Amino acid sequence: MIETDVIVIGAGAAGLTAAITARKLGLEVLVVEKTAYFGGTTAYSGGAPWIPCNHVMKQAGLSDTRKAAETYLHAVLGDWYDEDRIKAFLDNGPEMLAFLERESEVKFKPFLAPDYEVQPGAARSRSLLTQEYNGKLLGEHLKLLRLPLPQLMLFGTMQIEGSDIHPMRKVFKTWQGFKHTTKLMTRFITERLQHGRGVRLANGNALAGRLLRSAIDAGVTLWNHTPALELVTEGGAVRGLIAQKDGRKIRVMARRGVLLASGGFGANAEMRAKYIPMAEHHWSLQPEDNVGDGIGLGVSAGGVLNDRNAGQCIWTPVSVLRQPDGSVLKYPHIFIDRAMPGSLVVDPAGRRFVNEGSSYQNFVKTMHARQLDTVYLVAGRAFLRSYGIGLARPAPFSERPYVDAGYLIEAPTLAALAQKIGADPSVLEQTVQRFNTHASQGTDPDFGRGADPHTQFRGDATHKPNPSLGPVGDGPYYALALHPGDLSTVMGLDTNANAQVLDRDGRVIPGLYAAGLDMNSVMRGLYPGGGSSIGPAMTFGYVAARHMQQAGPSDTYTVTSPTLEAVL
Ligand SMILES: Cc1cc2nc3c(=O)[nH]c(=O)nc-3n(C[C@H](O)[C@H](O)[C@H](O)COP(=O)(O)OP(=O)(O)OC[C@H]3O[C@@H](n4cnc5c(N)ncnc54)[C@H](O)[C@@H]3O)c2cc1C
Repeated sequence: MIETDVIVIGAGAAGLTAAITARKLGLEVLVVEKTAYFGGTTAYSGGAPWIPCNHVMKQAGLSDTRKAAETYLHAVLGDWYDEDRIKAFLDNGPEMLAFLERESEVKFKPFLAPDYEVQPGAARSRSLLTQEYNGKLLGEHLKLLRLPLPQLMLFGTMQIEGSDIHPMRKVFKTWQGFKHTTKLMTRFITERLQHGRGVRLANGNALAGRLLRSAIDAGVTLWNHTPALELVTEGGAVRGLIAQKDGRKIRVMARRGVLLASGGFGANAEMRAKYIPMAEHHWSLQPEDNVGDGIGLGVSAGGVLNDRNAGQCIWTPVSVLRQPDGSVLKYPHIFIDRAMPGSLVVDPAGRRFVNEGSSYQNFVKTMHARQLDTVYLVAGRAFLRSYGIGLARPAPFSERPYVDAGYLIEAPTLAALAQKIGADPSVLEQTVQRFNTHASQGTDPDFGRGADPHTQFRGDATHKPNPSLGPVGDGPYYALALHPGDLSTVMGLDTNANAQVLDRDGRVIPGLYAAGLDMNSVMRGLYPGGGSSIGPAMTFGYVAARHMQQAGPSDTYTVTSPTLEAVL
């Protein structure tokens, strides 16, 4: 029998933060990861945590107050405000960041992004960015880190940060753009020659890479290819785990507790059909092994899957390229194109229905409310060449392969474009004409795009008079179909403020914790700002580890669970 203090199920942001924290607090920690790779959805992500009152914003000369954060969260969450868990999040989030920055390789930088909602108490730089990381520092473990989604990289394995995008778009237009792009390309080519791939890690890959390096350095035991199968329970308490390792079932006992951090159920078709609106039209961006294992284990031990939320996922509009081999590339339209000046989004009838630059959460919520499974991003050629549209990158990349593949719809006139998307030509023409009239003055009386700090920030800062608004220019014109999708689920197990899993009567299940997507989100399906998943995931991973350390070891166990008979 193997014994340790803490077992963590899943090596994403929540699990690895917990593992590093517990280890730094002197506990023995085992992380079991189902797949070949460490990093989970976190490695695909933007790597941005949302943490009010964080110390990092001070580097940008910004500050925040607890009162402002509470006011903002009350305004955004309304009746979904969960007093105890929000308090734990606000108390521990800044502490967790400072702890990781002090004790580990995990480092952040300020990001001037405003909160997503225009509400009292809103602020900037509660969303942070992870500092890029040199993958070489992971040594042989680099190959065990999940790569980002291929559709979000360039030239196969070149990772770029948000701050690279603007200069890269201006590669042949400004000296600064040329210099920046040349530097990145030179580095990438050198890395390709030396390592066969780009090793500059950015965004969520940098976060996952930094967490992985830190866990290894701290002495966490990390097992990949080791799915958790079953919890070992005794008298209602969780005492350990049965996992599959090297083709055998093994039992591991935990003196302090087991943390469920297996990353939700984004790839579980049955659960998606049950909990996601218009599920048959929805596209998930999560890895295919995130099928709700942790939630299932929690429920088997008496935990409760809570679906009483404002929504069950982080939504995002998605475009889809079906490739000749039958595979599908899903591109999340988080912000890069739809908030830029010179484009708009219309419903199948050819009418606008939303502030195109609104948060991904609000954009898709509006699609749900209107029962829209397909809408179209519409722009002219100048927009396509300047900003790109989805997978079709800006100049000097060619859009031709995407037009030929049927991903981008191209037409010489708006009327012809309308026909191709099945809209009434006169309706689309009128929509664009009205939009253009106001956009050229920097206003949007219909949906308020560009009027709030958030949509202004997500636009092109060099565009005047409004960074997010510009007329749709000359043809040829392009349309791209957008569908509802999700960056991850957020609906999970009921827990208390210590991240302990609760049973149907609200009692703690001793020895069982949940964090990240296995814990029902403290934001309850609302999205105050970029990072509202990773921020709480890391915070409650930290909280769980600290609680396990403070709670002390469980009593000596005499495990008699019948499932053990199956164990070799
Ligand atoms: C493109 C994209 C961008 C995003 N950007 C952001 C952002 O910037 N900020 C933000 O807050 N959120 C963002 N998100 C969402 C965010 O990435 C996730 O909500 C978050 O990373 C989840 O972290 P986690 O630790 O709970 O799960 P994960 O990171 O998914 O980790 C869970 C791990 O558990 C493993 N696992 C599953 N089952 C088992 C099992 N039975 N046994 C052992 N291991 C198991 C999985 O393989 C996985 O490695 C983004 C998502 C996407 C797709």
